Amino acid sequence: SSRSEPKESSDSEPLPIYHHKSKLVRAVKDSTFLVVTGETGCGKTTQLPQYLHEAGFSKRGKIGVTQPRRVAAITVAQRVAQEMRYTLGKEVGYQVRFDDCTSEDTQVKYMTDGCLLREVLADPGLSQYSVVILDEVHERSLNTVVVMSATMETEKLSAFLGNCPVFVIPGRTFPVKCSFGSAVGPKETESTGYVKEVVKVALDVHTSEMSGDILVFLTGQNEIERACDMLYEKAETIDYRFDVHDQTVEGLLILPLYGSMPTDQQRQIFQPPPRGIRKCVVATNIAATSLTINGIKYIIDSGFVKQLNHNSRVGLDILEVVPISKSEAQQRAGRAGRTSAGKCFRIYNTEFWEKCMPEYTVPEIQRTSLTAVVLTLKCLGVHDVIRFPYLDSPEERFILEALKQLYQFDAIDRRGKVTKLGELMVEFPLHPGLTRAVLKAASYGCADLMLPVAAMLSVENIFIRPGHPEKQKEADQRHRALASKSGGMNDFATLLSIFQLCRSSEKPSAWCKENWIHWRALKSAFSVETQLREILNRLQQRSDFPVESFNGNKNELFRRCLCAGYFTNVARRSIGKSFCTMDGHGSMVHIHPSSALFENEKDLDWVMFHDVLVTSKVYVRTVCPIRYGWVKDLLPKLHEVDVYELSNVARE
Ligand code: ADP
Ligand code: MG
Repeated sequence: SSRSEPKESSDSEPLPIYHHKSKLVRAVKDSTFLVVTGETGCGKTTQLPQYLHEAGFSKRGKIGVTQPRRVAAITVAQRVAQEMRYTLGKEVGYQVRFDDCTSEDTQVKYMTDGCLLREVLADPGLSQYSVVILDEVHERSLNTVVVMSATMETEKLSAFLGNCPVFVIPGRTFPVKCSFGSAVGPKETESTGYVKEVVKVALDVHTSEMSGDILVFLTGQNEIERACDMLYEKAETIDYRFDVHDQTVEGLLILPLYGSMPTDQQRQIFQPPPRGIRKCVVATNIAATSLTINGIKYIIDSGFVKQLNHNSRVGLDILEVVPISKSEAQQRAGRAGRTSAGKCFRIYNTEFWEKCMPEYTVPEIQRTSLTAVVLTLKCLGVHDVIRFPYLDSPEERFILEALKQLYQFDAIDRRGKVTKLGELMVEFPLHPGLTRAVLKAASYGCADLMLPVAAMLSVENIFIRPGHPEKQKEADQRHRALASKSGGMNDFATLLSIFQLCRSSEKPSAWCKENWIHWRALKSAFSVETQLREILNRLQQRSDFPVESFNGNKNELFRRCLCAGYFTNVARRSIGKSFCTMDGHGSMVHIHPSSALFENEKDLDWVMFHDVLVTSKVYVRTVCPIRYGWVKDLLPKLHEVDVYELSNVARE
């Protein structure tokens, strides 16, 4: 059936892409590679796949569209299914890590680029697809190295793809007036400062600016929920007869938008607010390019973003809140000028702009651990991972570090060849260390202990931290009680026990509420665990799946399996309360107060940890005590390998 009526943007004009429909379809038909560029919101993500579907591409295979973030993949698929009047999961579907909403009928499939990469591993020719659209390539998230491209540097991209044609969708934008604040300067480190400031500015805008919706940029779920709470509280005290400048504005609708939000709540974000009501969306960076919300006239920019960075001081990837780049700030501001002139309120001062904000955002591949990427490339048959033609070449030392880590985890051998274990590891969408622990446990027949832990560590925010001092006390007490149920000396075991207690409880959501645990996070953990179990079951059918035996107690076995994956994260008691890591960096670390071991650290000699938090000190979180004997044979692996040997092999 023909569904060619133009889709409209908020001012009921057709979207800019509509006028180029036939030329665009022609261009896709005529070239093997095509770069398409156009303003955010012009209709690339939601319309182009529909045009190709209408033009008959789905007859020869699926139309695949990748997104760097899972929320974007889900939200956009929902929207497109609705526009095409299909049921989501049938003709139009999505697949993201741990959530597959597609069927045999699926013709238009939105997915994260990680999912596409997994499909490439299984079927390098992607034979099920008639066309693959790599969207949002300026993000250049890690997984995109193999095939990706960019929107902003079209020349570089086109050259990368053998000088392929570039299709430009002309668009028009309206001026956005930007102003700087005074409260946030180069010394800002604590989120409490800028969250408060953002709330204050949002209320100022609400009371003194003419009608039009507000979009606030913060960095993550906790901050966003905190800001929304403050906004609710303050908005209630507004007297619309006297305090609000524009008398057509009679209320404020506050809507959070972040990654792990339930999708029905997300839908509200896109709906126009009721008459007289001003909408205020408080979002992560997802609203900068991936999702476009109509009607936004005012931007409030905190100046910060949450970013995964490789910290060479501690030798690990760390999720950090960092200042955004100037180009990112411009992109954020632009969100206010889509349909009419707008305003952008930057809460930081010009000194912050000059001193703290880099010109451009460094692509993720150049700032995070490459371990998973290098393993994937090797499994795809790319032996020379150093001279591989990356779109943005990572620094060689990061590639070497990845090779070293893969060697340490036994995923590759001394000659740089993928081992049997490496072939199993690449199947798991987890950090290689965690995968190693899961596989170790599976070989001992105790995957039941490790899968829930892996799942719990893969979802965000299990523990509710209310912030309010009285409530915080109550939450802390509950969390301590949960920790002591599992012996009180092993944070990994606490995660396992929370998982089990909640799942066996009659009313799991009530159980969570009572124990100050995020029910939604646990629900995701349940689903992640099921999916990891499915992957494992599939792998265990291979005749060469490793089997080992052990005659100690379960508690020790559990921790020994963890050691197999986390021996890179081992620390030994140093002076006073500090520990010293054993990975060659010899960093001084402290046990984080959220750990059950924090209060009992006196008797600890050796510990192993899941991750690191850097504030004024370097903290380790999710910790458990271990014995030196368990890692004695593993630790030399951290030093024995000569990375230059590996790198020479890589170049052969
Ligand atoms: P681009 O990919 O070029 O940035 P999109 O295809 O994402 O543009 O968006 C095109 C238009 O569709 C925008 O006006 C946007 O607001 C609208 N839109 C996208 N998703 C939704 C949704 N879930 N609900 C309502 N409108 C949407
Ligand atoms: Mg898009």
